[in-house]
Amino acid sequence: MKKLIVSMIKASGPMPIDHYMALCLGHPTLGYYMNRDPFGAAGDFTTAPEISQIFGELVGIWCVAAWQAVGSPSPFLLVELGPGRGTLMADILRATAKMKEFSEAVQVHLVETSPVLRQAQRDKLDRQITWHDSVETLPQEPLIFVANEFFDALPAQQLIRHNGATYERCVDVEGDDLVLAIRPIPQVPGLLEGLNEISTVSSAIATSLGARIDALGGAGLVIDYGHLQTAAGETLQALKAHKTVGVVEHPSESDLTVHVDFEALAKAFAAGGAAVLSPKTQGAFLNEMGLEARAAKLAAKLVGQTRKDFLTGAARLVDDKEMGQLFKVLAVAQRLRQPIYPFEAP
Ligand code: SAH
Repeated sequence: MKKLIVSMIKASGPMPIDHYMALCLGHPTLGYYMNRDPFGAAGDFTTAPEISQIFGELVGIWCVAAWQAVGSPSPFLLVELGPGRGTLMADILRATAKMKEFSEAVQVHLVETSPVLRQAQRDKLDRQITWHDSVETLPQEPLIFVANEFFDALPAQQLIRHNGATYERCVDVEGDDLVLAIRPIPQVPGLLEGLNEISTVSSAIATSLGARIDALGGAGLVIDYGHLQTAAGETLQALKAHKTVGVVEHPSESDLTVHVDFEALAKAFAAGGAAVLSPKTQGAFLNEMGLEARAAKLAAKLVGQTRKDFLTGAARLVDDKEMGQLFKVLAVAQRLRQPIYPFEAP
């Protein structure tokens, strides 16, 4: 990957950060996600569904509430964007299996580009599934979608506004090494003073989903780390074996992510025509969905270290110093009069 990037930069000049992210993560054969399972202790990072089954169970219950709020369409698409190992979808389907009408109406559609992870999802879910490379090929049906730690993996540009001038963060070559550089670019309207991270790919996906929900009906949940208000500042980071590494140090061998700008994402969903319900922290969302009671019920069947680890995992999802505050939950829906618990009406 490094050789490829060096040759591309030599041929056409410094590479903007969003191109670099897109190549490192999504190159069809060399991309980070294309040939590995990055999760867990032996991988680079872990995610809420991998930490505790309660996460997927409560998201599943939310999906049922959302489905009922939008008029219980049958059939409907249960769509997950970036399903990783398939753990979240497996937990959603298990938790909702007894809701007869819901589970009879479900058609599972997964948006996933990685062949390795598609295989993991196939093994885990063992049922009729349709995979898609992008949301564009989803059938024209009402949908309930979930996206956990999906948008943070999508490419973002880094644009800098300083003293009236505009610059773009790029990757350049120095000797044999990749280095970060900036280059002046023409004015871009609407930038904040400082460094702006802008994910046009994320906005395009949100607008497309918003338009589908408006036209066909449905709702969805985005869960990710990020900020509720657009703000200047750098959040791009590279993770390898659970440690932060330099962004250009291990191209396609480290996970590259940016914090999600929920304000920009909300505007993009609304631009498509969906209603945006006022977002919450993950801690508030899971607590209001009944995490404590569910954790106590499951823990009652466990003993010793297993019980301890289980309770630690559940607490990690909601603790302020762990995932509780940093992660946010944004719900969107077709324009309705009633709220969808635990979100207030838009
Ligand atoms: N939701 C899972 C995995 C998060 S990691 C969990 O919570 O554990 C990001 C996921 O998004 C991976 O499955 C990755 O392969 C997928 N992905 C990344 N970029 C993508 C893209 N452009 N289109 C579709 N899927 C993508």
